[in-house]
Amino acid sequence: PIFQTSTFVFKNAKEGKDFFEVAYGIREKRPDEELGLIYSRLNNPDLEILENRLTLWDKAEDCAVFESGMSAISTTLLEFLKPGDLVIYTRPVYGGTHYFLTKILPKYGIETLGVTPFDTKEDIDKMLAEHPNGDKLAFIYLETPANPTNALVDIAQFRAIANERQTEDKPIYIAVDNTYMGPLWQHPLKHGADLVIYSATKYIGGHSDVIAGACLGSKELIARVKGFRTFLGCMAGPWTGWLLMRSLETLKVRMDKQAENAAAIVEYLNQHPKIEKVYYLGNLKPEDGRQYNIYKNQCDSNGAMIAFDVKGGEKEAFAFLDNMKLVKLAVSLGGTESLAEHPATMTHADVEPEMKDRMSITEKMIRLSVGVENHKDLIWDIEQALEKV
Ligand SMILES: *Cc1c(COP(=O)(O)O)cnc(C)c1O
Repeated sequence: PIFQTSTFVFKNAKEGKDFFEVAYGIREKRPDEELGLIYSRLNNPDLEILENRLTLWDKAEDCAVFESGMSAISTTLLEFLKPGDLVIYTRPVYGGTHYFLTKILPKYGIETLGVTPFDTKEDIDKMLAEHPNGDKLAFIYLETPANPTNALVDIAQFRAIANERQTEDKPIYIAVDNTYMGPLWQHPLKHGADLVIYSATKYIGGHSDVIAGACLGSKELIARVKGFRTFLGCMAGPWTGWLLMRSLETLKVRMDKQAENAAAIVEYLNQHPKIEKVYYLGNLKPEDGRQYNIYKNQCDSNGAMIAFDVKGGEKEAFAFLDNMKLVKLAVSLGGTESLAEHPATMTHADVEPEMKDRMSITEKMIRLSVGVENHKDLIWDIEQALEKV
């Protein structure tokens, strides 16, 4: 059911007192005592059941659900950072995350240092040694595979960087945005992350009909995230919880089908004369060295996100996008319907030109989020759109 209610009736006054004592941390929970239902900004059955179910995929102890991926990201960063701290993040990150890290956090005296998936531990040690606040490192924020190029970030490398610098009273937490591969195909907690973050709008929701987010980790860390969520008031509503539970029933079959379709499409693209390069995890070979090793170690699937360069530039890429009939021209990803877009002028429009070059986000690149349609129809559509290029 949808618990469409803002508040909950207490059985008696003593129960209300007990619930508030736990909610405000006035006393420890008694063994087996759960936080009672008080008010839907603190908790609601549609959120609690969803949170319990989401913990299973990542084997996390607890989960906090949010009204968007961005609120999961911003609430988590604000909870674990304070003025004077330094955050390392990998580039490119999701556009909204990039804005929050580089434009919002500095207003609160928090500095950021962007690194790329290709920087080694030695490179980052050197950057920190040369950075005026290198000794203030407090948080590491990773996104892997990188959007849109599928470049992989080695989570274990960042665990090693954090471990060398953290002390008992000054831990350095690592959060991984697992939207591209999770919750099925990559489990960052296993590789040394403390927190896993999702835009549940994408694969978890899967139907392009709801915006939501989640943060998962240990009971201790998620208690802090939930505490702060209560005061920012960015929890998801009961309808969102209900829609996402509906979505979880088909999560695995959807994602399996999407990955299967993506593999078939890549096989087609790999041999097409108008395609210059395909960015897809399944195309990594032992010759790719470190990227291949991270892939083997961290990913359980090739995923369903593809990027490819058409021969030419913006004109050719736009001709392809404008001539698709089945695949829709839209941003977002992970839904049942296939979506294509042009990263250089759309999702990654405000990435600096130099970083775009370094990350191969060029005018000829198309990003494709593969859906659950019949892959023969998708290949037919790609074929006829390429004919028009
Ligand atoms: C979409 C997305 C976000 C932001 O999530 P919203 O639900 O739109 O707020 C964050 N990270 C990644 C990787 C995304 O794709």
